[in-house]
Amino acid sequence: MDSFLLYKERYCMGNQDYSVFMDCAAKTMLEQIGLTEADVAAMSNYSIKKVYGLCRGEFQKIPWRRLICNNAGLPKWLFILLLALQRRLQIKERIACWANIKDMECVLCSKENEDIDHILFEREYAKQVWSKLLFWQGIHRDVSNWQHKVTWAMENAKGKNAEQELYRMTLAGGVYHLW
Ligand SMILES: [Zn+2]
Repeated sequence: MDSFLLYKERYCMGNQDYSVFMDCAAKTMLEQIGLTEADVAAMSNYSIKKVYGLCRGEFQKIPWRRLICNNAGLPKWLFILLLALQRRLQIKERIACWANIKDMECVLCSKENEDIDHILFEREYAKQVWSKLLFWQGIHRDVSNWQHKVTWAMENAKGKNAEQELYRMTLAGGVYHLW
């Protein structure tokens, strides 16, 4: 049963009652965003996009959005990449924000503190993985750190051509498998 019929049945409304209810709801919503009925009637072309934009409000666009939204990688890769971009992966660096951790040493190599830069880039194994992935893609630059890689990807891999698409996928796949 679609939502229209469900709503009518739940509130025992006839078609006319439902139409009146929806008119009032729409009017209230438009008033909240500063549009009157006259403003809407005066629109030569009613734009759902424009009204939706007004309802939602203006927000600053997240600079790395294209790395996630235009990425053909597996959903589980994208989820981990999203957490990594927000520095929210569950590693000692993050856990130390709310728990008292005495030993911050990386459990994999015991050489440095366990933070996102170390886990995803600075440890030797990660460097080798990124180096081989870059070589395989024909990109000749040094493996740097996490922030530099994200910045580089935001500037150079946001387009629609095959190389850029591939770069975004390898970024997501690499982060997932290293994690
Ligand atoms: Zn380590």
